[in-house]
Amino acid sequence: MSKDSTDPRNWQLATRLVRGGTRRSEHGETSEAIFMTSGFRYDSAEAAEARFRNEQPGFVYSRFGNPTVEMFEQRMTLLEGAEAARATASGMAAVNAALMCQLKAGDEVVSSRAVFGSIAYIIGDLLPRFGVKTTMVDGTDLAQWQAAIGPRTRVVFLETPSNPTLEVLDIAAVAALARKAGARVVVDNVFATPVLQKPLELGADIVVYSATKHIDGQGRCLGGVVLGSQAFIADELTPYLRHTGPALSPFNAWVMLKGLETLELRVARHVENAARLADALAGHPGIAAPAGRVPGLLYPGRPDHPQHDLAMRQMTAGGNMVAFRAKGGKAGAFRVLNALKLVDISNNLGDSKSLVTHPATTTHQRLTAEERAHLGIGDDLLRLSVGLEDVRDLIADLSQALDKAG
Ligand SMILES: *Cc1c(COP(=O)(O)O)cnc(C)c1O
Repeated sequence: MSKDSTDPRNWQLATRLVRGGTRRSEHGETSEAIFMTSGFRYDSAEAAEARFRNEQPGFVYSRFGNPTVEMFEQRMTLLEGAEAARATASGMAAVNAALMCQLKAGDEVVSSRAVFGSIAYIIGDLLPRFGVKTTMVDGTDLAQWQAAIGPRTRVVFLETPSNPTLEVLDIAAVAALARKAGARVVVDNVFATPVLQKPLELGADIVVYSATKHIDGQGRCLGGVVLGSQAFIADELTPYLRHTGPALSPFNAWVMLKGLETLELRVARHVENAARLADALAGHPGIAAPAGRVPGLLYPGRPDHPQHDLAMRQMTAGGNMVAFRAKGGKAGAFRVLNALKLVDISNNLGDSKSLVTHPATTTHQRLTAEERAHLGIGDDLLRLSVGLEDVRDLIADLSQALDKAG
């Protein structure tokens, strides 16, 4: 029997990304409408009462839900293969809500150490203030995960590939340890993108995104998404979001919906460019010599990446992020940045424009020198988000800039 072709869950990925979640108004518009409204009216007092009692479907207030935002949530649900999703005003609002909505004093959280800077603040500084014990482990070392995850562990958090050193962590192995302990696994899947890696299929319970990155993909809006089981989203996350208010603007949701329509195409080109650029630059004399097993240029799609085999098992391609160490330390790295003519110095990522940042003095300057050293964030490290320009122009720009390194 053929599958029901009216059920969007049976559509292929490209079709889900273009049409999933679309809900037309009575005007029959082809492009999704922007419902730029904070409130909704009711036909009668009885209708308002019923809607507030959840006895009648419909919207009541855009902090709780909005038609444009809901279209984005449904398209994300179909993309991820999750049961449900909720959108938030930023990626950090998504991470914060995903953690806060399910934790209480006395719980324990185990997280990989190499996480996005603001996530390190939430897990390392904020949660302990409310009586949540947190333990940070070296994410590539399964023995550390095993030692840290215990009977009081409620949430296990990880990000892979990690920022900015592009370590690849074994989602399935960590999820198996968490499951045995009765803990839930939350994965920040931003660097991998929803196209290249499916954490839920690997055993994760909850996936979070900064939609600011590849989902918008054109550097316009902040946004975030949390995806998981229907029960988690409805019973734990939604009450937290309704009452604390990190709602996504309907306009930004519309931008994200449009971003999703081209996500698969863009990610394919991002990956193609990143792979070719990484290969072209790997042997450049301006790149520092390997440090032990770690090459001077890191790209998960290259066989010399320390976790290349794992990366190819759990991702369908190496992604669009490349990290490399410039010869000549901080001065060398700065000379490279200042010599760039095309690639922009910016800490954002997943943009159509190629962007490069010096993590030690920007995104990770809050850390102590020891903490940075532990994470492998040297003064010579640069993190590159490869965009959608013609890769020949990118290779030329980075090559001439690297000539200035040593
Ligand atoms: C950008 C980013 C975030 C935070 O997202 P915002 O939209 O900037 O709030 C979280 N995790 C990762 C891996 C990111 O790259």
